[in-house]
Amino acid sequence: MGKDTSWLPFWEGFGVVDAHSDAHAVRVWLEPLPTHELRCGRCRRRVQRVHERVHRRVRDLPMLGRSVELHVRLLRLDCPHCGRCLQHVSWLDRHSRLTRRLALAAAHGCERMPVLHVAQSFGLHWSTVKQLDQRRLRAELDRLPPRPSPSVW
Ligand SMILES: [Zn+2]
Repeated sequence: MGKDTSWLPFWEGFGVVDAHSDAHAVRVWLEPLPTHELRCGRCRRRVQRVHERVHRRVRDLPMLGRSVELHVRLLRLDCPHCGRCLQHVSWLDRHSRLTRRLALAAAHGCERMPVLHVAQSFGLHWSTVKQLDQRRLRAELDRLPPRPSPSVW
């Protein structure tokens, strides 16, 4: 592409190096910006040493009726505290194949629609959306105040 895309606010710490679109999907290739501070994905401390680069395919929110597939170059770091682990990425949970915003949108969709409809509207597998919905429900339960202790008569 050859143009500076570091200003794009969608994928903090990464720049777009290539993008393609067809009738069904938009595919975007992302590389870590050399100016972005590297942090360990476990302890979040700053890390200088890069062990290797790995590729991960990640789904993002659909755009203009097309699914969005990110091809992300992630850095595996040599953290002095944790050993080798992937860099911290603000918009992607560890081991996740979905961006946080897509996971959140699908989970919120389950508040209003059946899981199958949410899965179809985001182009996700039913079981993936079911897991997101269960995680959302668990988080809601955790936010409830503790059950009052029974009063003694
Ligand atoms: Zn660490």
